[in-house]
Amino acid sequence: MNHANPHRRLVMPSSDKFHEECAVFGICGHREAANFTYLGLYALQHRGQEGAGIVSSDGRNFHAEKGTGLVADIFGKKDIRRLSGDKAIGHNRYSTAGESLLRNVQPLTVNFAFGNLAVAHNGNLTNAPMLRSELEAYGAIFQSDSDTEVIIHLMAHSRGDTLLDRAVEALSLVRGAYSLVMLTDHELIAARDPYGFRPLCLGKFGDAWIVASETCAFDIMEAEFVREIEPGEILVINDKGVTAHRPFTPPDAPAKCVFEYVYFARPDSRIFGDHAVYPVRKALGRQLAKEAHVPADVVIPVPDSGVPAAMGYAEGAGIPFDIGLTRNHYVGRTFIEPEQAIRHFGVKLKLNVVPGVLSGRRVVVVDDSLVRGTTSRKIIKMIRNAGAREVHLRISSPPTVSPCFYGIDTPTQKELIGSGHSIEEIRDYVTADSLRYLSLEGMLNAMPGRDDHYCHACFSEQYPIALTKAEEIQLGLFDADAHADTR
Ligand code: AMP
Repeated sequence: MNHANPHRRLVMPSSDKFHEECAVFGICGHREAANFTYLGLYALQHRGQEGAGIVSSDGRNFHAEKGTGLVADIFGKKDIRRLSGDKAIGHNRYSTAGESLLRNVQPLTVNFAFGNLAVAHNGNLTNAPMLRSELEAYGAIFQSDSDTEVIIHLMAHSRGDTLLDRAVEALSLVRGAYSLVMLTDHELIAARDPYGFRPLCLGKFGDAWIVASETCAFDIMEAEFVREIEPGEILVINDKGVTAHRPFTPPDAPAKCVFEYVYFARPDSRIFGDHAVYPVRKALGRQLAKEAHVPADVVIPVPDSGVPAAMGYAEGAGIPFDIGLTRNHYVGRTFIEPEQAIRHFGVKLKLNVVPGVLSGRRVVVVDDSLVRGTTSRKIIKMIRNAGAREVHLRISSPPTVSPCFYGIDTPTQKELIGSGHSIEEIRDYVTADSLRYLSLEGMLNAMPGRDDHYCHACFSEQYPIALTKAEEIQLGLFDADAHADTR
């Protein structure tokens, strides 16, 4: 079944502009600000493993430390001590190999009319290339490839009287997804786009205020979760406390990313309000059991991300849950590897079967999503080699049919096996005895709150913000040939 919208053919560019999975963290009012930022980034490592940075402010000077790789490998004790001051922001970055240059690692820092400024961004701006060309035409010189730098230039070009005015003006010009933290000499600013695509939470640790992508960053330091930063909200945090601003007209409905619940956020986090991720993932599995039951002896997850859904499935189906695959936690996610050849190798590095669980049995294997299909194919081969009699693959989300423009790494549409292939063709490719996905409706019913509050474009191709023709052309999405065909 091809879910692609017949009215619109997307031709994805070969660039990696959309690959912007990230984490942000900020703290204001603690003398160990950098140390806590380090802890926060460590807890948020799952949101990006290619690079990280911390910038602190002592009220006069900024101190910055950045590197490529994992948080624990980048920052040493000496680095953290050097990052003095009671305010700091940090960022974890995902990017593909060609882009993991140090100059792209955030926070980005500049010194402009209002003093020092550092910015860290989670999300993707769909009109960034267009704004960038316009700014360059006015003489702006960019130092990175990142969307985020566009925001900095827009703030620098603004005629606003205050930094907040300039931030509002800049953010009113960008389209797409942003959960941002900014640091000035004396303030921490947090902003979330009016659709609220990516999560952003406010917390408190003693007298200090904290902002983080997910609440797991608060838990690690035993900070208190205060509330979600609302879509369209800008918080200015300084020694006097927190001031909230809502300068933008809200859209008809927010568009919080459904995939944060399906896969991306940590299961022990609460995101998008006070909603825990783990029970949502379990509910997705229970719903899947309702929709796609098959007689079997055992339900096993693809660890780690498939575990809660598999538990929900086993519970819903009344079939015993067991661990049939173990994961080597020290390899890193295979998805990070950009080369197909490495990727195939990566699955074997990462996962292995548990002897004795699968032999002679009818196995239901549950995963949260199927993207290219290469992971499932390898896994099913392993399960069969371990002696399973039948292997039934169940996916706790619908087919991934479209790339994300708002900050989740999805490959080009051509590489998405769910786009342009029937379920039977996919089943055949992954060599399962049966394959069933969760329905779009079933997934949305399992989400907390009302379902029209979610962006599910990767599963439905219904993008909450229509791209303008100019944006499509700029991004290389506009297929002139297809356009000619339909005229
Ligand atoms: P694939 O081999 O491309 O079908 O990979 C599917 C696996 O990748 C599933 O086990 C998912 O948990 C995982 N996955 C899905 N989306 C992402 C993503 N954006 N980043 C990293 N891993 C992902």
